[in-house]
Amino acid sequence: MRRRRQRPSFLPSLADAKAHAAEMLARVKGEARDLPGVYEMRSADGEIIYVGKSKKLRTRLLSYFRAEYPADKGARILREAAEIQWEYVPSEFASLLEELKRIKRYRPRHNVAGKRDARHFAFIRVARGAAEAFRVVRGAGADEGGVFFGPFHGAVQLTEALRELNDALGLRDCALDTPMHFADQPDLFPAPRTPGCIRFEIGKCLGPCVGAVRRDDYAARFALARAFLEGTNDVPVAALRGAMEEASDRLEFERAAALRDKIARLESLRMQFARLRFAVESLSFVYTPEPRHDDAISYVIRRGRVHGAFAAPRTADERRAFDAKVAGIFAPVERSDGTVPAHEIDELLLVTSWFTRFPQEMERTSAVAPVPSTRSA
Ligand code: SF4
Repeated sequence: MRRRRQRPSFLPSLADAKAHAAEMLARVKGEARDLPGVYEMRSADGEIIYVGKSKKLRTRLLSYFRAEYPADKGARILREAAEIQWEYVPSEFASLLEELKRIKRYRPRHNVAGKRDARHFAFIRVARGAAEAFRVVRGAGADEGGVFFGPFHGAVQLTEALRELNDALGLRDCALDTPMHFADQPDLFPAPRTPGCIRFEIGKCLGPCVGAVRRDDYAARFALARAFLEGTNDVPVAALRGAMEEASDRLEFERAAALRDKIARLESLRMQFARLRFAVESLSFVYTPEPRHDDAISYVIRRGRVHGAFAAPRTADERRAFDAKVAGIFAPVERSDGTVPAHEIDELLLVTSWFTRFPQEMERTSAVAPVPSTRSA
């Protein structure tokens, strides 16, 4: 006997959905205006099931009612929605920021914007723990926490380059929950002399899991790796270059060629970091998008993240007060090492992609007096 498919409990009947849709359509037609804004779709029990934005809100909302059910995602969202709420914002840029903020706050189940942005990129995550380690991750889960370098294109090349760096400096790349046992650690539970790990056997890892290295010495190597990525130190490449020259002198051309490829991968990784630092550093200014609605807002953007949004100053007094706020935002010294806290990555991607798509918007920015920056040790 054929079983009838059950409708998910949160879906209204087709008749109810049509009635709701007709009411919502009438309201959109009667009230919505073609201005930048954000909107929320809510289910009958008040759950925010979708957050969206548009520079032309009315046009965007009307498009939901023309979508085909069930082929179009918009129609599927509408079928679950009992109410649409919207709010106008001064500009399209403001709508993007507001949408991102609400998606992070409500995590509506129909939104995939976070995935669409961050998960297309690869990041290097600094995994904390007894012995720090680098990890290549897709996207940057805000849930994961920690420090991220990125975003980068090409997780595969990034992984290969990072492997070279780990090998060159003897850093671990094993599972994060692998127990560590440093040489200077009390020996209550003596670690095995060999970890059964090929990387230790062939000298590619210092062996922090088997008491083969002191905690400080391992930390110093990790700091060296970060310094290399930040462009302040050349030890890994210099060591490989020396080994390559020796191999060449001994006529070991195959080994010399392999070392040359390793150097190329490391240098490409460092180049990517340099480009990233440049991109992030160039995104520091005050940006005032042209308002389509309401008064202009000036965004204080530092290293690709929005640190403040204030009414654009119109008088000399307002300008002085505004400048003081900007100076306060730029006063704290920030590291210029290409790292981004996990929770700020989506915003960095948003700002980067905005100025990449609309380079003419740079004309609406104004520079902020430079502040000194530091590099990590
Ligand atoms: S030697 Fe130990 S710490 Fe190093 S990668 Fe292997 S298991 Fe991890």
